[in-house]
Amino acid sequence: MLKSDVLIIGGGPAGSAAAIRCAQQGLTVRLIEQSAFPRHRPGETLHPGVEPLLKQLGVAEQVLSAGFLRHAGNWVAWDGDPHFVPFGEDNTGPWLGFQAHRAEFDQRLLNQAIALGVEVLQPCRAVEVIVELTGGGDRVVGVVTSAGPMRAKVVIDAAGGRHWLARQLGLEMERRSPKLVARYGYAQGHCDVRDEVPAIVADTKGWTWTAQVRPGLYQWTRLMLEPQRLASDFLPQELAALRPQGHRYAADVTWRKVGGLAGPGYFLAGDAGTVLDPASSHGVLKALMSGMMLGHLLGQLFRRERSEQAAAQGYGEWVTDWFEHDVEKLKLMYQALPQPPAWAAA
Ligand SMILES: Cc1cc2nc3c(=O)[nH]c(=O)nc-3n(C[C@H](O)[C@H](O)[C@H](O)COP(=O)(O)OP(=O)(O)OC[C@H]3O[C@@H](n4cnc5c(N)ncnc54)[C@H](O)[C@@H]3O)c2cc1C
Repeated sequence: MLKSDVLIIGGGPAGSAAAIRCAQQGLTVRLIEQSAFPRHRPGETLHPGVEPLLKQLGVAEQVLSAGFLRHAGNWVAWDGDPHFVPFGEDNTGPWLGFQAHRAEFDQRLLNQAIALGVEVLQPCRAVEVIVELTGGGDRVVGVVTSAGPMRAKVVIDAAGGRHWLARQLGLEMERRSPKLVARYGYAQGHCDVRDEVPAIVADTKGWTWTAQVRPGLYQWTRLMLEPQRLASDFLPQELAALRPQGHRYAADVTWRKVGGLAGPGYFLAGDAGTVLDPASSHGVLKALMSGMMLGHLLGQLFRRERSEQAAAQGYGEWVTDWFEHDVEKLKLMYQALPQPPAWAAA
């Protein structure tokens, strides 16, 4: 049976960041990803805070050389007149976000993991968790995959918001909002007002996000804060003259957190552990940070500088604090709407 120090499920930002940080510390790492790349993912507007993280991961140059569009802030029409909200600046100039093509962005991160010696199996799908009874009780010791069983001292689930490992282990899910579904799609053509910066516009039912993701290609996301149908031919007004491109997608963005973010033999990174709706605007940043934090903690664990229990507890508290902070900020944001949903006041 294949063995490694760390087995990571999922090659998105959380999985690749964890793989890179673990490999940088000399751990043997295997990563399985169910899709052949390039594959589609939403989440293309990246907060400027990702840039220093990319530097630490050693991929800043590779990402910068991809030529993604950059922007200095967002247009916001929320509780009053539309206005530009800059990210900020320092003595080097304004902070710039990325409009990243996720297929390309994720590929560059995964390439860095491979360059550092991570064994990547792709396409390879996690099918069933392997749990064994040890002296300390039940422990995750590996995963049965589409390429056969694999064992590892630690398994990281970074497989996204379907919560693969949490479902396998029957872990409790803490929901902090009613069911929220984000619909999103793409449109081709020209929309001059959206070429410089993305926009978020609230109305009586929810909000709409629009951004230019590549020259001539625009992405929209629509979130309604109470259950409602969205017309099958919906396009935001500013994109109405453009040609819809590809599928229209839907994603469950109910605010939620897995109760046990870490336990004997396992850790949950990125969306596998916590999900918020995209108005929180930094899902990828959080995915990268949680993967990097895990790499750091596992380095300490394998060097015997920290016990597994202390690593699991510290990680769980760190993610939970961040999640609770974001929940409060999102609630305040929704309370400021002209017609706030009742649930946001709770
Ligand atoms: C509509 C929408 C818009 C968004 N917009 C933004 C945005 O503008 N900016 C932002 O920062 N965030 C945004 N987000 C959030 C962002 O997409 C996520 O937070 C981010 O992708 C999480 O990264 P991750 O690595 O945890 O998971 P993912 O990116 O979901 O990666 C998980 C990987 O695991 C693989 N996988 C899944 N199951 C298995 C399995 N069983 N075996 C092996 N591999 C598996 C998948 O193929 C995938 O490659 C948005 C989300 C939505 C739904």
